[in-house]
Amino acid sequence: MGIIALVLALAGAPANTAFQCAPISGHAGWTEWDTTPIVVTLTPEMCSDLNDVHAGELTSDPSTDANMAQGLLIALHEASHAAGWRDETDTECRALTLVGLAVWGLGLSPQVIADAWTWDRTWGSQYHQRPCQAADSGRLGAS
Ligand SMILES: [Zn+2]
Repeated sequence: MGIIALVLALAGAPANTAFQCAPISGHAGWTEWDTTPIVVTLTPEMCSDLNDVHAGELTSDPSTDANMAQGLLIALHEASHAAGWRDETDTECRALTLVGLAVWGLGLSPQVIADAWTWDRTWGSQYHQRPCQAADSGRLGAS
């Protein structure tokens, strides 16, 4: 299973979710959730970072670890949108949780988790409206 398929499955995105690497103005990733199928787009830079995860380039280079964390976090964030999460804070909290699962499942360094949280803190206030709650709290249809 490739890293993209893994990320989409881990987030619970619909099986027919389309994924592409393409430039996006002002964003590292974007999800069109009103289309059929849903389309997840990451910038070429984020796709490259995500491919580093696939290559398993571990802790020999801290900057590579940090880039992997960015690619993984963005991909899991957008895949969570595809899975039904809409609110940016809920989506980001879920993505951060899933980074831990991905790191464990892929046998990556725990440093990747720390790097993901560090990078998350640089994001805008719309991603940090509340402390992170239970992982399902923001999903469409969840009570
Ligand atoms: Zn988002």
